[in-house]
Amino acid sequence: MLNPYKGGEFEVTSVYGNRTIGGINEFHTGLDIVGRSGKELLAICPGEVISSTIVPKSSNDITWQWGNYVIIKADTGQRIIYAHLSKRLVSKGQRVNTGDVIGIEGNTGYSFGSHCHLEVRNSSNKTSNEVNTPKFTGIPNKIGKYNVKVEKDLTKEEVQALINASKERVWHYWDEIKKEAPWAYEPLMNLYQKGYFKGADPGDLKISQTKMETLVVMARALQDKGII
Ligand SMILES: [Zn+2]
Repeated sequence: MLNPYKGGEFEVTSVYGNRTIGGINEFHTGLDIVGRSGKELLAICPGEVISSTIVPKSSNDITWQWGNYVIIKADTGQRIIYAHLSKRLVSKGQRVNTGDVIGIEGNTGYSFGSHCHLEVRNSSNKTSNEVNTPKFTGIPNKIGKYNVKVEKDLTKEEVQALINASKERVWHYWDEIKKEAPWAYEPLMNLYQKGYFKGADPGDLKISQTKMETLVVMARALQDKGII
């Protein structure tokens, strides 16, 4: 799971997808999250800040609803939107790395209580079943409390077990991975470049979503440990 908050503890208060508010059905295009270990929001991936702004309500720009917002264009192409911030701590054009503080959670724009609307869109600026916030971040699409530290506190033995597991298979068709699971591409490519997928196996030409997710969790755990 990618970590959106300093300290790693947060709650999901509204999920991605259809929801009903005040009797009105709408499609919620991101996850609403509330920091528990702190209010500092973190870059969830490396990229470039392409917006850091607030738009007046009087304008015709519908993004006034986001209040103070920051958009990062991930190096892998996706756009990461952080809305309703009390403070923006990065500026347009700035490069960010995973874990950099980008702003402070708040209640600006169309918001009823301090939270962050976190939204991941594809490189064409669209949210879809292929590229959306729960899929990209690994944050469960379920109301509840989460703690990303669990993955960071792996023991040495667990890390070794992950490395061994990742060495067992070779994955082909990077183009396919990029298309089917763009959120998985970078961590897997990192593993591949470090030589973790040794010993070609022609049987591994198709990758199920479940296998991909397992590999991505492993890749992220290794990244958290600074191994890749
Ligand atoms: Zn929201």
